[in-house]
Amino acid sequence: MEELIKIISDNYSIKVKSVKELEGYANANFKVTDQQGKSYVLKLHQLNESATAYYTAESSMLFELSEKYPNRFQHPLQSIDGGFTIKDDYQGKPVLLRMLNWMDGVFLKDAEPSQKMYYSFGKFLGEMDRELINQMDVAIEARRIDWDLNNLMNMQNKSRYISDPSKRKLVEYFFLQYKENVVPHLPFLRKSIIQNDANDWNVLTQDGLVSGIIDFGDMVHSCLINELAIALAYALFHKEDPLKWAVPIIEGYHKVVPLENNELDVLYWLIAGRLCMSLVGSAWSGSEDPENEYISVSEKQAWNLIQKWLEINPVYAAQVFYQAAGIPPAKPEPLDVSLDKRFRHISAVQSVSYEQPIKMQSAAFQYMYDAYGNTFLDAYNNIPHVGHSHPKVVEAGQKQMAKLNTNTRYIYDQLAEYSEKLISKFPTPLNKVLFVNSGSAASDLAIRLAQTHTGKKDVVVLEHGYHGHTRLGIDISHYKFGRKGGKEQADFILKVPIPDTYRGQFKNNDGAAGSQYAAQLAELISGSEKPVAAFIAEPIVGCAGQVPLAKEYLKNVYPIIRRQGGVCISDEVQTGFGRMGSTFWGFEQQGVVPDIVVLGKPMGNGHPLAAVVTTDEIAESFDNGMEFFSSFGGNPVSCAIGMAVLEAIEEEGLQHNALETGNYFMNKLRELQNLYPVIGDVRGSGLFIGMELVKNTETLEHHAELANYIKNRMREQFILISTDGPMDNIIKMKPPLCFNKQNADVVVESIEEILKSS
Ligand code: PMP
Repeated sequence: MEELIKIISDNYSIKVKSVKELEGYANANFKVTDQQGKSYVLKLHQLNESATAYYTAESSMLFELSEKYPNRFQHPLQSIDGGFTIKDDYQGKPVLLRMLNWMDGVFLKDAEPSQKMYYSFGKFLGEMDRELINQMDVAIEARRIDWDLNNLMNMQNKSRYISDPSKRKLVEYFFLQYKENVVPHLPFLRKSIIQNDANDWNVLTQDGLVSGIIDFGDMVHSCLINELAIALAYALFHKEDPLKWAVPIIEGYHKVVPLENNELDVLYWLIAGRLCMSLVGSAWSGSEDPENEYISVSEKQAWNLIQKWLEINPVYAAQVFYQAAGIPPAKPEPLDVSLDKRFRHISAVQSVSYEQPIKMQSAAFQYMYDAYGNTFLDAYNNIPHVGHSHPKVVEAGQKQMAKLNTNTRYIYDQLAEYSEKLISKFPTPLNKVLFVNSGSAASDLAIRLAQTHTGKKDVVVLEHGYHGHTRLGIDISHYKFGRKGGKEQADFILKVPIPDTYRGQFKNNDGAAGSQYAAQLAELISGSEKPVAAFIAEPIVGCAGQVPLAKEYLKNVYPIIRRQGGVCISDEVQTGFGRMGSTFWGFEQQGVVPDIVVLGKPMGNGHPLAAVVTTDEIAESFDNGMEFFSSFGGNPVSCAIGMAVLEAIEEEGLQHNALETGNYFMNKLRELQNLYPVIGDVRGSGLFIGMELVKNTETLEHHAELANYIKNRMREQFILISTDGPMDNIIKMKPPLCFNKQNADVVVESIEEILKSS
């Protein structure tokens, strides 16, 4: 310290009593106390041209601000020769030094927050920015730093330093949304010099109000609204209801610097953007300097907040921000108007869910956001398998669409690469894939493959099964042809009872029922005049109400079918891609290998991608001179998306999560079943769950009214589930695979509340 004391004494007219190093992020900071007990901060910087220009500018900004508002900002101390910065040598190196007066107060991070304090924070920032708006400085305006929120996208490639893939995807989601929702507006947002770092370690409070701010080292010329976004990003840490705490800050700021609509529109994304910046920054610095605790100080809170942020509908956030600024938010179109528009050209044959239909606006992972500001927890949609708007999937599609989209008559690498990856998920001899665009097209094609290969026509189907909406699809779907509006069973269809051990004829699920049901099938076939081409079934029959096939059923059935020359088809449209938890495909749970597998729904995470996977032998038979061509099937965009889905499943361990969360979820539902006898059965595998409601546990009388009641009450509580089964008395739960245990708790607690009060 001797050396520093000498430098200070040589350059400033103060008598130094002590010098103490302060903890800091990048610069060396020291607390200097003079003999009268007055304290200062000495800041040491590496000496270079831009540092000199910048710190000179910073000092003059601080000088202006502290002239206007004494005690709120660190007043720069003039050296003996009159400047705010001095150059000297320290520890053998040339350095730039500055002295600022010491400010007392309690840092915002340590202060007891109150709405009053937060209002004063907003007002404080407004008053600071009102001064800064009028300032101009070439050195600041020329500055390009990573910590400028306008440059957020420069940080995107650093997200790879976040080692946990489930956390990384959150950050990548918000990067993607920044690109979509902020970048196009950047040219139109007001620009100003801003302090750019009003984080809770830099803001001082006294007597319950914000009293000062330190550290102007990140000052830039950027969007004015970034100032507020940064302040909010940190001020909302630790808050149960972050928006409640955002309001007073916005109110206070707006009172002094009226906010513009386009600023309020982007604020939600900017706050998330700043959190991403901080998280990516700390992951990156952490990888460079794992010992530096200071870097990760805010990390945990930032993760908590970004997770919470995801649960806030962006429309709602904007409404709250507008209201805080006293500006009436734009009114969304009333639902009846949207419904009228829909049904003007869309037939009522395509139904809308719920007594009170939902108009969706956007979605993220297991959350869906409606147009009115509500956030729904999605416990129902299995198509967005790896999560709604998954950034990896979205980007894969966007990139490939911007580059090449063509068809299988040309050679492109994406087709070979994706088929290889997909086939690697199957046991031998399943080795060939034909791509189409829907589960219906796939099941239709699967039947054609079977019929061409075997030279036979008849198909064995399960009672209540559903496989698609094409003509052939309806023929093989008892769920359709056997219900309202359906026609007679086609003459080439053999329907067997569903091997249901809860409601069916045979209930002993240790394998006995499986073989008894299989014997029924054998009998039916043997009674038929024609041999069968195929047997098609889902491993857990979704439309029947999530009914798992009795144990050993397929093990007994497949040999029967094959013995008389038929092939076995597993419809994995709902059960595939890891949803079962313990296995990647549903058929694996039955210990069989099908000859043909039908894939769809989750395969493209919502992009129309489906396929039929089969053996070399069957594929060869199908190559009989009639070309197979699907205009869109297997196009490069679909392949890129399919690949991203498979990678996301692997990277994020989603099959494992389906197992863990699914078991947890089912156990909780079974606990509920012990309390409420209306819950007749809880069944499924992984995150493919059914809960059957009955009026009487002996007679198993269906309780469809209760199922419908629960579905609609859950919707009122912003939770999406659905009902299914031949009598519509089964609650179906099949959420995106990123669904977590807390989400499961929310669902179970809500069901319990409804049961309690019904
Ligand atoms: N098979 C099964 C088991 C299904 O659940 C569905 C769709 N619900 C289909 C096939 C048909 O798929 P898509 O709607 O993509 O035509």
